[in-house]
Amino acid sequence: MNIVELVKNAGVVGAGGAGFPTHIKLSAKVDTVIANGAECEPLLRCDQQIMDIYAARVVRGLQLAVESTGAKNGIIALKEKYHKVTESLQREISKLPQKNISIFHLGNFYPAGDEFVLVYEVTGKIIPEGGLPLNVGIVVDNIVTIINIANAVDGEPVTDRPLTVCGAVKNPFTAFFPVGTSVSEIIKFAGGSPLAEYTVLDGGPMMGTIIPESASITKKTSGILVLPSDSEVVYQKTNRHAVKQIKSACEQCQDCTEICPRFLLGHTLECHKIQRSTSAGLQDNITQAFMCCECGLCDWVCPVKLSPRRVNQENKRQLFKQGVKNPHHKTPTGVHPMRDYRRVPIERVLGRMDLIKYDKPAPFTDKKFDISKVAIPLHQNVGVPAEPIVKVGDVVKKGQLIAKIPEGKLSANIHASIDGKITEINSFIKIER
Ligand code: SF4
Ligand code: SF4
Repeated sequence: MNIVELVKNAGVVGAGGAGFPTHIKLSAKVDTVIANGAECEPLLRCDQQIMDIYAARVVRGLQLAVESTGAKNGIIALKEKYHKVTESLQREISKLPQKNISIFHLGNFYPAGDEFVLVYEVTGKIIPEGGLPLNVGIVVDNIVTIINIANAVDGEPVTDRPLTVCGAVKNPFTAFFPVGTSVSEIIKFAGGSPLAEYTVLDGGPMMGTIIPESASITKKTSGILVLPSDSEVVYQKTNRHAVKQIKSACEQCQDCTEICPRFLLGHTLECHKIQRSTSAGLQDNITQAFMCCECGLCDWVCPVKLSPRRVNQENKRQLFKQGVKNPHHKTPTGVHPMRDYRRVPIERVLGRMDLIKYDKPAPFTDKKFDISKVAIPLHQNVGVPAEPIVKVGDVVKKGQLIAKIPEGKLSANIHASIDGKITEINSFIKIER
């Protein structure tokens, strides 16, 4: 079996949040593969520790991705401040006979891990509007995905997921958990929250989404963040009046545009113009919302605390509903001359969000937690859900295939993450020990 088939069988998907089936990416022919270790979401401490502990796996996974795509080189991109991680990776790279794997250091700014930003920082290439790294001969995979590629080729399917549990919990930490573990159980392992009322996010404060505590972790969950329900971050994510507020309070200061990472890359995205048209009920420039990656940076620079991101989101939703397609496909010829001076340091983002008090270590533990049941979602990927191949009452072993890619569809296989008996099949497969 070749690398693509092994990765497909193992159910590897983009672990950085997108969930794109990795076997499709590895089928492409490109010049460069970038292992994305930027982990630019504030407070998360997963990738930076995993890269250090599993440095050999990272290098092997990247080599396999390079081999599969016929790339000339593989680059591990991580923050310059991770000196120890760099040493670990460098040690592994130096053992390789061929010299096609290297390290690239990124600054500590947000969103260094956004694929468009990352590709420009690492290679100087600008991905066209509405495009993919593939358009400039590049594949980008998250560090955990890269490790999963190495595991897949060694016969290990994706059953566990490393993540950081942080924020308003007693003991923040980072560890592997079986896919399908309940979020409430993970919060208990962190000593619970000292707060009477809190809200849980899947991911970091910038792009993470609010989830119920009863939810399960997926192959894409890089963090469980607990925040006070009355925090600014939760307010921004739940505020349903963003459009009305833009109409009454947008000062047209242009700060949202000036700081926007996509605008600074030369894309047709002048956020203040979208806000102006939305306020006036006009259509001019509204399709620029297609260029917005919803990184959320504009929300935290807006002097009157509006949420241009939510407005862009809503405009995109309306455009999709009307069947409007993205008309923007320009390839910028150069970046904004002030781009280097407008990169926003993570500390500044944290300060704006009032989250500095949660900026603490979340040390990795290899402790094996006693997980007695899991509910594994069938839809954890871009494309359609996987099809169950087990039935209630079946006894399964960890690593056994329990749901497979429907014939001819874009999807990803799913494997049992603990030993046990299938007790329910719904939009998830529940396994109890
Ligand atoms: S930063 Fe805020 S006030 Fe300024 S143009 Fe953007 S949405 Fe309007
Ligand atoms: S969320 Fe705001 S800053 Fe981020 S890409 Fe969209 S408009 Fe730009």
